[in-house]
Amino acid sequence: MKKSVLVTGGAGFIGSHICKMYLSEGYQTICVDNLVSGSEANIVELRNDPAFHFYRVDIGDVEEMEELFKQFRPQIVNHHAAQKSVPYSLENPMYDLDTNLGGLLQVLSLVQKYPIETLLFSSSGGALSKKLEGIEKSTEEDVPQLISPYALTKFAGEQYIKMYSEEYNFNFTVLRYANVFGPKQVPDGESGVIPIFLKNLEEGNVSTLMTYQDMPRGCTRDYVYVEDVVEANRLATNTPLNKVVNIGSGTATAILDIYEQVLKAFSKSEPIHIVGPRPGDIKRSVLDTTIAKKELGWIPKFTLQQGLSELYIYYKTQHIKK
Ligand code: NAD
Repeated sequence: MKKSVLVTGGAGFIGSHICKMYLSEGYQTICVDNLVSGSEANIVELRNDPAFHFYRVDIGDVEEMEELFKQFRPQIVNHHAAQKSVPYSLENPMYDLDTNLGGLLQVLSLVQKYPIETLLFSSSGGALSKKLEGIEKSTEEDVPQLISPYALTKFAGEQYIKMYSEEYNFNFTVLRYANVFGPKQVPDGESGVIPIFLKNLEEGNVSTLMTYQDMPRGCTRDYVYVEDVVEANRLATNTPLNKVVNIGSGTATAILDIYEQVLKAFSKSEPIHIVGPRPGDIKRSVLDTTIAKKELGWIPKFTLQQGLSELYIYYKTQHIKK
């Protein structure tokens, strides 16, 4: 019999790609999402597959969630539901706590009652980075800065998972993502610069580079293509490592370089407006991915330019559909 996987946040940007992967791997896939930031459009192509089941449910809804665990008895839980914004977590720490930690604990209480084999958790390599100097990269062992409620709840979530994995006897992998980009990502201001640049180019608006005086090409970020993130989830489902693993390109790219690569991939030429820094923006962010490579056998297949080329093809098809 096919194994069942319950994907929380499965109608979101990353979650919807992950649902698609599980279906193609032959899993019965139960997608749970309250659509607060995800959308049914993201999973429309999956709805015809009889192995796909979508439930518009809030992970905090005890009764409905229990009903799903009772009905499907998933062997795998892949937890992607979250509020994903650092600034929003600073403005609404209670919401962040309820969703990102309360929601996870709700899922873990069901895992206690309805045992599973494996849990995957999407954490954040950027938010849990230490302050990087020069060419340093962020490792899983570094002590994170924890300077936002989002960072705190993701980090606390990782500790709860480690603790309960022993107690409730399941395997796990915590995947700490860098900045993920790819099709279905929305330019909501919290998703990194690529969808924002693309929206500006489409609407004829000038993009802005907010940076520090000593970083004239902008702060650096680590961009990883969504298909590579999906592959990390596939590998970690097959071989859970019972540890935290960074998933990123391992390459620090300055924002201005990202903008120039976007222009190149989309055959555009628009100047960018350079202004002072956004308060609180970290200067450098890049992940060390040695563990992912050595222990998961994960190697990113897409460079930034290749990912952008894929994104260009996706945008073109979306326009043709319209
Ligand atoms: P997203 O907002 O597209 O996905 C989150 C999904 O969770 C959405 O579909 C949303 O509707 C759903 N959701 C939120 N609260 C819920 C609740 N209470 N009950 C049920 N569903 C709920 O964001 P994303 O970029 O796809 O992020 C997915 C996960 O990856 C998040 O946990 C995020 O913190 C993590 N992450 C993302 C990035 C990135 O670059 N996108 C980087 C690091 C970590």
